[in-house]
Amino acid sequence: MNGRTDDKNGISGGFIKPPAVEIAGMHKWFGDFHVLRDINLKVERGERIVICGPSGSGKSTMIRCINRLEDYQRGRVVVDGVLLTNDLKRIDTVRREVGMVFQHFNLFPHLTVLENLTLAPIWVRKMPKKEAEEIARHYLARVRIPEQAEKYPAQLSGGQQQRVAIARALCMSPKIMLFDEPTSALDPEMVKEVLDTMVELAQSGMTMLVVTHEMGFARQVADRMVFMDDGQIVEVAPPAEFFAHPRHERTKLFLSQIL
Ligand code: ADP
Ligand code: MG
Repeated sequence: MNGRTDDKNGISGGFIKPPAVEIAGMHKWFGDFHVLRDINLKVERGERIVICGPSGSGKSTMIRCINRLEDYQRGRVVVDGVLLTNDLKRIDTVRREVGMVFQHFNLFPHLTVLENLTLAPIWVRKMPKKEAEEIARHYLARVRIPEQAEKYPAQLSGGQQQRVAIARALCMSPKIMLFDEPTSALDPEMVKEVLDTMVELAQSGMTMLVVTHEMGFARQVADRMVFMDDGQIVEVAPPAEFFAHPRHERTKLFLSQIL
């Protein structure tokens, strides 16, 4: 068995592709602390999901389970048909397909922008340097900073650094992109340039799970909103419905605090 769930339930044969992400009955504990409780979420290919909720509700932990930065104890997480277990090969397979952008850009300070972008393609993908650099320049142009290739991260603004981090993830040709509060560490005047990059990425058809409290962005790109509180998914709804008619008291309270 190779972990492709579609191989064993008879719907393979190339006709039905598995969802991008399927989380089912998933629970996670940090020691005694039950941080995620019965998480169920299926994300189709090309879907854009925006996840919001109070600080400490488990948003980061949930999306980190999708690329196995965190493990889980019950239920299952299946990414592009691959069931995530402790098997390192599967973890590797999934990490190759899932790009992640964090609140703090996590660029290597001693490497230039171009070196930051080509490091993983060269060392993980075994790509020739010249090809990796061509791809890196392509994505730098896409995030609208082609002229910054030779600079070091500290020479860039926060917004530019975050766009480098997005370009760096794209250089690995991910099928799914995870964003964990990508604009919350930025000065206000830089938030828009990063959100614009993410909107363009969404328009290109990328499957995206985005933890953010940027509700303008959410209204613009989200197919579905996910609201989390206290380790649970409390509400899932299309943005129009979510903002106009939140069903749960906890959602109403949260929205009243941030809008
Ligand atoms: P959010 O991203 O919604 O703010 P997190 O997923 O970061 O929430 O955290 C959820 C809860 O888990 C919080 O109470 C946090 O303190 C706790 N937590 C997060 N990471 C760890 C860890 N490595 N060990 C123990 N507790 C953790
Ligand atoms: Mg978080």
